[in-house]
Amino acid sequence: MPDYEPVIGLEVHAQLKTKTKIFCSCSTNFGDEPNTNVCPVCAGMPGVLPVLNKKVLEFSVKTGLAVNCKINMKSLFARKNYFYPDLPKDYQISMYEEPICGPGRIDIETSAGPKRIGVTRIHLEEDAGKSIHSPVENVSFVDLNRTGVPLMEIVSEPDMRSPEEAVAYLKALRAILVYLDVCDGNMEEGSFRCDANVSVRPRGQKEFGIRTELKNMNSFRHVQRALEYEIGRQCDLLDDGEKVVQETRLFDTAKSVTVAMRTKEEANDYRYFPDPDLPPVVLRQEWIDRWASELPELPAPRRARFLEQYGLPADAADLLTSERALADYFEAAAAAYNEPKKIANWIMTDLLRELNQAHLSVSDCKLAPEGLAALVRLVDEGVISGKSGKDVFTEVFASGEDPEAVVKAKGLVQISDASALEEIVDKVLAANPAEVESYKGGKKKLMGFFVGQIMRETKGQANPGLVNQIIQKKLG
Ligand code: ADP
Ligand code: MG
Ligand code: ZN
Repeated sequence: MPDYEPVIGLEVHAQLKTKTKIFCSCSTNFGDEPNTNVCPVCAGMPGVLPVLNKKVLEFSVKTGLAVNCKINMKSLFARKNYFYPDLPKDYQISMYEEPICGPGRIDIETSAGPKRIGVTRIHLEEDAGKSIHSPVENVSFVDLNRTGVPLMEIVSEPDMRSPEEAVAYLKALRAILVYLDVCDGNMEEGSFRCDANVSVRPRGQKEFGIRTELKNMNSFRHVQRALEYEIGRQCDLLDDGEKVVQETRLFDTAKSVTVAMRTKEEANDYRYFPDPDLPPVVLRQEWIDRWASELPELPAPRRARFLEQYGLPADAADLLTSERALADYFEAAAAAYNEPKKIANWIMTDLLRELNQAHLSVSDCKLAPEGLAALVRLVDEGVISGKSGKDVFTEVFASGEDPEAVVKAKGLVQISDASALEEIVDKVLAANPAEVESYKGGKKKLMGFFVGQIMRETKGQANPGLVNQIIQKKLG
């Protein structure tokens, strides 16, 4: 049996974060009552005319610039014709021959090192409505709120060779879109969805195999599992001397398998032609220059800077730059107290744990980055013990209070005053002469006993490191 190599190309549909739809001024708000965000334009009434929302040009060009695409000064909307109840015009306005952005690339990190994945094109289109099938009443409903919501489709080259690479590409792309603030990246709500094209070929063969297109994966985990299953299925077919059928398959999330949905449609099935209602989109260089000047620092360069400037380990740089707000939080805290590794540790363990538990995002966090920095400093400088630090953290995370105020109010300040501690040490040693003798005689384990006694005397507020030093000095 030959060893097979998977070949994967991804089509991502990203819902653009505009307030209004792409060709009318209806709201794009998610979750509103069905059919409340609808007008004659997006309902496809005869005689109405679409007017392009300029914001979608800004968002798609910014994305193109961020992934090193060629920006096309002229692009064209076309009609993609098909019949479906959730498509009131019986055609979808999309871009076909002249997309807004041409070839580009995204660099991803893989276990074998960095890898460059080609972006074929980026184009704009409108979303369709939503069909809701009711098994109870045995009828279907159509909600047109989503009809005309702007989508950006980002098509990759078939450059990925494993499910892991596909997921790494998706994560990198999603992070870029979220950094640019052009898409909320929410896979569960469908604002970032992916169709995965996959084929296999005997390793060493140049030509690609016949591909299938997988749909209905609404998490990175689903993409990974759907691809794993489908690659296995295609390899088994070839091993049995059978052929892969070019088709669209649905991922069954419950069974973790892919199921045939329909044979693949060809482009000519859609009878594409330029939309006569929309003039060509002609960009101005001054717009592009302005949008380019507004680009934020992107995740990959920011990650590289975190490694370099703060000396963070790779996993910390990955995690902290995965979200712009989190990276901003870290940098604000590190600016307030210049101990970036310690700050990073607190964020990655305590802060993210609490945020997860409370189902909050960093931007909703009550504890300001300066507050976290102050707390890390209090522990670091020995003002409070590590244990108190964790307790104070839980408290200020919930309340947003100033950690120093909490420490004072609760009397948590550690005794780090050497002369004060020396007195207590002397007292404890004088009260336990037998233990002192045994210690001097070699029973070094008694150190724990002395420290424990001193902690008891001070109600746990002695700085344990300092107590250790003092005892050692006194008993030799
Ligand atoms: P369509 O528009 O019909 O979906 P495209 O030719 O535009 O088809 O390709 C869509 C996606 O499929 C692209 O991401 C491309 O990289 C990928 N692709 C094309 N051929 C193959 C193949 N043989 N195996 C895996 N992926 C492929
Ligand atoms: Mg496709
Ligand atoms: Zn409308």
